[in-house]
Amino acid sequence: MSTTYHDIEQDLIHAFRAGKLATPDIDARFLLEAITQYSRAQLLLARSMPCPPQMVDTLRAACERRLKGEPVARIIGKREFWGHSFSLSPETLEPRPDSESLIELALTHFADRAKPYKILDLGTGTGCLIAALLKEFRHALGWAVDRSFGAIQQAKKNFAALDLSERVICINGSWADALSGPFDCVISNPPYIPQHTHLSREVANHDPALALFAGCDGLDAYRTLFPSLARLLSPEGCAFFEFGIDQELALRKLAGEHSLNVIAVQKDLGGLPRVLAVNRGK
Ligand code: GLN
Repeated sequence: MSTTYHDIEQDLIHAFRAGKLATPDIDARFLLEAITQYSRAQLLLARSMPCPPQMVDTLRAACERRLKGEPVARIIGKREFWGHSFSLSPETLEPRPDSESLIELALTHFADRAKPYKILDLGTGTGCLIAALLKEFRHALGWAVDRSFGAIQQAKKNFAALDLSERVICINGSWADALSGPFDCVISNPPYIPQHTHLSREVANHDPALALFAGCDGLDAYRTLFPSLARLLSPEGCAFFEFGIDQELALRKLAGEHSLNVIAVQKDLGGLPRVLAVNRGK
């Protein structure tokens, strides 16, 4: 008897529930949509039709990988961020919805969408942050830096797929060492997890350690980045940093030590402080 699209979806859901995954229905749906290349509506229309045997095999293999802790985005090789699709590589962090708070805050600060802002992204990974901003600011120019060669190669491909290659320069290097500025806007979602933190198997085994960990308190990247802002930011410029749980106070203090002015802190979807905005002060 042939397996219908509905059967295979139910199989995935049951397997994921039995495997105690956090979001079994959503995971099944995303895998099915990505592998069949059918939309939700098309899958409903096709629900009682037979799923080609080769596709069933592919879905079963994907199911096994998910049950072993591989995130859906790693299996399908891409992830949505700010309404755009970003391909992943082993060297790139998987974009997270919480990082969209950084985009929201930057948009409230830079109200004029037509200005030719210069934007610098330090530790670009997939390029999701700077690509989201370049899509909003149609005349802006971007500089995307990552110390991982594999990440910068992947970011380049993502910029090309989003038709942004003409407006972004990719640099394989350490933070802003090769740059002098001035930039209107500096953004970064640096590594900020304290070394030796216990992470879920999804994160620990599949996100690159280089993009996650930053010293014993997780603040090493900010210690390197904050002193360079006096050089990098234009007098009216503003920098936006994502940070982790319980790091707000330490970051405010660090900003003060480098004569930076904290102008805003933005919360994430879960209501936790997640993004710090600073300028050079007066
Ligand atoms: N800027 C990228 C992101 O937000 C990568 C961040 C990182 O590697 N720490 O996804």
